[in-house]
Amino acid sequence: MIEVEIDTGSGFCFGVVNAIHSAEEELYDTDELYCLGDIVHNSLEVERLKALGLHTINHDELGRLHNKKVLLRAHGEPPSTYRLAKDNGITIIDATCPVVLRLQKKIQKHYKETKGQHTQLVIYGKKGHAEVNGLVGQTKGSAIVIEKMEDLDKLDFSRNIILFSQTTKSLDGFSAIVEAIGQRVDANVKFEFYDTICRQVANRLPGVKTFAAAHDWIYFVAGEKSSNGKMLFEECLKANSNSVFISHADEIKTPLPASVHQVGVCGATSTPKWLMEEVAERIKELNIIHRKLETK
Ligand code: SF4
Repeated sequence: MIEVEIDTGSGFCFGVVNAIHSAEEELYDTDELYCLGDIVHNSLEVERLKALGLHTINHDELGRLHNKKVLLRAHGEPPSTYRLAKDNGITIIDATCPVVLRLQKKIQKHYKETKGQHTQLVIYGKKGHAEVNGLVGQTKGSAIVIEKMEDLDKLDFSRNIILFSQTTKSLDGFSAIVEAIGQRVDANVKFEFYDTICRQVANRLPGVKTFAAAHDWIYFVAGEKSSNGKMLFEECLKANSNSVFISHADEIKTPLPASVHQVGVCGATSTPKWLMEEVAERIKELNIIHRKLETK
């Protein structure tokens, strides 16, 4: 016998669910809506929404667009995007995740309060990531982005520092950065730090590890571009060496070894539930029929 279980903790976070609902609601009345950047890092979900009329555009294309409706996805945008949209007569459907929005406001508040005081506003995050660009935009581009330990050399440890985190970074990584800055700052320097990591992602980590360890075989489903997917898959692999990364159900071409009885299907925060269900169906189709034939 083979049993297939889908991880109930996997799939879209509420920020992404909200953004997709906003797009679907809008597309109910119209067949033309633009989205600035992929609504989610999953090409199959992007294709599904494209078929309903959602066109993905980049910032250059936004600059050339006039008098249309544009959805801003969960990652958020810098103030310059809102200004550009206003100048071009664009109607914004703002699906920025409330957690990101809160963080943007927090950074903006600290920026205004510390302006002219030589305080360094620092963001622990991925350079060039849409959310980070939106956060840096709250400081008129002055915030310093720290991606890894070596980047700390960019900081002046004789000046005050206020540290924030991109919402999807790991708690361990953030703690290590906090500790390293704490050790290097001069005695008279004020160092404030805010753990602004979203628990929707951070809590997935222990959940996915437990799920992976409880099964004989894991199919981890995520888009190639999903950084959250890569990180969670690495954890799966550590907990269960029989973990396989796939993006589509049809990547599963062969039945599983006879010793495998419990198969788990899990994914990233950008993996749609319908895709994990398709994968579960494919596993059953391939293995149940195959095993029945073998026992005949
Ligand atoms: S991971 Fe958290 S902050 Fe980011 S979109 Fe999802 S719910 Fe919002």
